[in-house]
Amino acid sequence: MEAPVDFIRAKILDDTASNRYGGRVCTRFPPEPNGYLHLGHAKSICLNFGVAKEFAGQCNLRFDDTNPTKEEIEYVDAIREDVRWLGGDWQDREYYASDYFERLYAYAEQLIQMGRAYVDDLSADEIREYRGTLTSPGRESPYRNRGVEENLDMFRRMRAGEFPDGARVLRAKIDMAAPNLVMRDPTLYRIRHAAHHRTGDMWCIYPLYDYTHCLSDSLEGVTHSLCTLEFANNRELYDWVLATLGVYRPQQIEFARLNVTYTVLSKRKLIQLVESGYVSGWDDPRMPTLCGLRRRGVPPQALREFCRRVGLARVNSTVEYAMLEFCIREYLNEHALRFMVVLDPVKVVIENYPGNLVEELDMPLHPKNPARASRKVPFSRELYIERDDFRLEPPKKFHRLVVGAEVRLRYAYLVTCREAVTDASGAVRELRCVYDPQSRGGVSPDGRKVKGTIHWVCAGRAVPAVARLYEQLFVSETPEDVPESKTFLNNLNPGSVRAVQALLEPALSDMAVEGECVQFERLGYFCKDRDSTHALPVFNRTVTLRDTWAKLEKKGE
Ligand code: ATP
Ligand code: MG
Repeated sequence: MEAPVDFIRAKILDDTASNRYGGRVCTRFPPEPNGYLHLGHAKSICLNFGVAKEFAGQCNLRFDDTNPTKEEIEYVDAIREDVRWLGGDWQDREYYASDYFERLYAYAEQLIQMGRAYVDDLSADEIREYRGTLTSPGRESPYRNRGVEENLDMFRRMRAGEFPDGARVLRAKIDMAAPNLVMRDPTLYRIRHAAHHRTGDMWCIYPLYDYTHCLSDSLEGVTHSLCTLEFANNRELYDWVLATLGVYRPQQIEFARLNVTYTVLSKRKLIQLVESGYVSGWDDPRMPTLCGLRRRGVPPQALREFCRRVGLARVNSTVEYAMLEFCIREYLNEHALRFMVVLDPVKVVIENYPGNLVEELDMPLHPKNPARASRKVPFSRELYIERDDFRLEPPKKFHRLVVGAEVRLRYAYLVTCREAVTDASGAVRELRCVYDPQSRGGVSPDGRKVKGTIHWVCAGRAVPAVARLYEQLFVSETPEDVPESKTFLNNLNPGSVRAVQALLEPALSDMAVEGECVQFERLGYFCKDRDSTHALPVFNRTVTLRDTWAKLEKKGE
């Protein structure tokens, strides 16, 4: 059975069936290069590129670069990299709204000539005041009835740079009493004496979003212009511009934007985090940016699955961050190679194991996929285990190491603890154990039950590293919900990152690839970082495992 289609795909199916647009499907992903892409954009990328692929159509990458003061080439490059990483393929169709400036200008003159646009000398504040409200109609500007010739002359002089910023604007002449406020003579062009990252000083007037977007879509032959719900009111203007000019008209369709708990998804706020130094940069592994998620170790497949599960709706809602983590674990459980790492070591001495012997034990790199090559793990008389895997006074159902009990060292041997050596403060310094030489591979030789299995590393061969343990960046599920005058920055989690030492089994040190996730057995999924400021290799924790241990402990204590 086929999966049920969402309302957007249903619409596109209808349109292709009725041969609207000649059966063609063309979408676009239109980021404004004024920041890095985030989780919300992932939804739009997956939708636009996904739909194009499913319908054997095309998806363009278009930079909506109409605001020269906030846009930078750095962002363009980052966006390109992020879209590609997520699987978006725009082939040679990389477009820029700024490439259309000349044509957009010509269309504007055409609107003036048709008597459908005028130059207004009101200030921005006055324009706002004249606009009216939802319950009261707007007032017409005193400049609204300028003649075509005067408007043309004024507009050309705007372009020629005769007027300072904000002195005049070009507005559409629609209806100051329109119930939809967007239609009350919206501004089409404003004066900005600012260099643009692509067009340099060629222009000092810049077209506004509503005017630019529909015409860019039209010029590119986009069939379905998918955007978020806030633009529902703007659709009327979108259609008006294209209908008035009599040009090709794509269909705008709105969908709910993605919101995720414990996260802010607004470039403006993300910029604040970066610029105020709350995070180390756009790609800080705690950031919900695509480059941050990538550095954290999130595979693009997991992100695409997340977007698929989120689905499409016509009503805004908030998705649990835990759902993203679920998708990450699901993918990594299948694909990540396994290694043993100890983060909080306590020494184990196996008294009956020869002091000069090091055995190389064979262990699978992936438990469910033995076809994959195995790895060699050295075993010796002195090992490290996790401090937390031993208790002097164990809670109920504690199946790890305690004095007098037996535990399995993963894939190695069964060992029994004889004695815990403590220091003056009572802290455990060393565990004296014996092993059963008959239990190689961790197999019970006589069928006796050994419930617990713990991980370990060889003391003499472990490779030191740094592990960064991440928590949510915000303590609040809804960090943006703050009372007036307070800021979302008050909801930052002061403990969102903690660096600890790690002792790696040697095979991991040899095999770890930057940017690729592995599982530290029983601890979580980690990704080798490209941090070069540390002398030691750094691993970022991508996600924890679902920790049944912690749950059991809570119940027992
Ligand atoms: P922000 O609010 O973070 O500044 P934006 O919408 O201004 O985001 P754009 O660069 O204009 O960012 O967005 C490019 C595309 O991504 C648009 O089509 C926009 O609708 C979509 N998009 C942005 N944020 C989200 C989101 N949270 N969920 C779904 N789509 C989004
Ligand atoms: Mg925007």
